[in-house]
Amino acid sequence: MNLHSTIATQNLLIDGVRVAPRSDRYFDTLNPATGEVLAHVAEAGPEDIDIAVASARAALDGDWGNMRPADRGYLMLKLADRIREAQDELIELESLDSGKPVSAIRRQDLPAVLDTLTYYAGMADKINGTVVPARPDALTYTVREPIGVVGAIIPWNFPLMIGMWKIAPALACGCTVVLKPAEITPLTALRIGELAIEAGFPIGVLNVVPGFGKVAGQALVDHPDVDKVSFTGSPVVGRQILRSAAGNLKRVTLELGGKSANIIFPDADVDAAVRAAGSGIFFNTGQVCSAGSRILAHEAIYDEVVEKLAARAKSMRVGNPTEASTSMGPLVSEVQMKRVLDYIDIGIKEGASVVAGGERVGDTGYFVAPTVFAGVEHDMRISQEEIFGPVATVIKFRDDDDALRIANGTVYSLAAGVWTADINRVHRFTRKLKAGTVWVNTYGPTDIRLPWGGARDSGFGREHGEAAIDNFTEPKVVWVNTGR
Ligand code: NAP
Ligand code: MG
Repeated sequence: MNLHSTIATQNLLIDGVRVAPRSDRYFDTLNPATGEVLAHVAEAGPEDIDIAVASARAALDGDWGNMRPADRGYLMLKLADRIREAQDELIELESLDSGKPVSAIRRQDLPAVLDTLTYYAGMADKINGTVVPARPDALTYTVREPIGVVGAIIPWNFPLMIGMWKIAPALACGCTVVLKPAEITPLTALRIGELAIEAGFPIGVLNVVPGFGKVAGQALVDHPDVDKVSFTGSPVVGRQILRSAAGNLKRVTLELGGKSANIIFPDADVDAAVRAAGSGIFFNTGQVCSAGSRILAHEAIYDEVVEKLAARAKSMRVGNPTEASTSMGPLVSEVQMKRVLDYIDIGIKEGASVVAGGERVGDTGYFVAPTVFAGVEHDMRISQEEIFGPVATVIKFRDDDDALRIANGTVYSLAAGVWTADINRVHRFTRKLKAGTVWVNTYGPTDIRLPWGGARDSGFGREHGEAAIDNFTEPKVVWVNTGR
């Protein structure tokens, strides 16, 4: 397969066809492992967004809206088949565009995409209302209608997977979608849009509009005919979206950042904990909203944890994401690499010590060595702010109360982990940790069947599971007067 010839120019996908943007403006998407241009991508502007939203509205009022829910589910299963057939291409494309190791995409992202699609396909005809016997003179019941046109805005860290977390439940509920992928990773979203057309989805059900957040994303959020915005990204943009969505009181779901604590007690299996702590922060080059970026180690095992984690960091194979042996790829962009390197400088100036990594790797591509900071204090910036890179901070704690105070002491509450063999402590911590997910004696797994999300600066609302069905439906009460 010659990707370079097939992806040289990537147009918008609106109303079932690939179209040039009204402005005729294109931007480059790069391969972060080499810095080379992969493709020229159409930049959606407000006019393109208007057309995409109109197309999504027409599909909602037309073929898609009138389809049997079970048939929507069957189409979703067909899309899963097309994705499975095209998986090698999708994996390669995702890796080239984002720098994620192919091995990780094959093991994790692609199966999660298929699992998500299949799970929600099965839900399409099970979105039931309830008969509520409120009165003797009426038949009163609820139905759950599609919320309408959904604007889905996604980040660059899991383009395929997070895209599907939004598309699949929205389609199962009978909504139509305008998807704005992150500007630096637009390629697989466009391909998924094409596969949906090949699978037989009516035109307009899924439109894909790459472009800049401040232009295309903002136009989608401002659009009076978009009913719901489902957003994953940073707290800064999340706040902006909330303000803009006030215009027509759009429904909004926000999945934002984190600075999650992974707490290790001496009675835990320390080797297993350190292994998981390593993948908890270095997986996807640390560009994970729920990354276990703060490793809290009890003072009795602090030195052991630091030493073993540093050894793990040093043993990682950083390199070309297309090689099967690579365990960590580059950061997604030069901007992101600089941000991470800046934070490493900040940590050093704050007085923490680098015990592994701490620098760029090579001078081509955006690689940073897996980095471990020891001697980290709770109030340092590297321990409070989301770095979104392969930088672990190891913080010492004295006892349970100290651990809880530190763990809950940031503006985020997305996820947390606790490692202990003490059953009482397990339950005390699962109760007291402020987080949407608490992992016990493991770190990081997610499953589409379980609600996912956070509170405070980590956003609000939950995706996954049945929670996502609530996100994309609007309840309606029907009151039929029957007389007595
Ligand atoms: P970001 O800058 O917030 O961007 C996310 C998306 O929003 C991109 O598509 C972006 O477009 C778009 N956008 C930017 N400004 C916008 C605006 N004014 N109106 C509408 N859309 C706009 O975040 P990121 O840097 O891509 O991703 C990293 C962040 O995402 C981290 O904070 C991370 O924790 C969070 N995250 C959270 C989860 C979760 O499930 N909680 C999962 C993954 C990532 P451009 O690409 O053009 O900027
Ligand atoms: Mg790219």
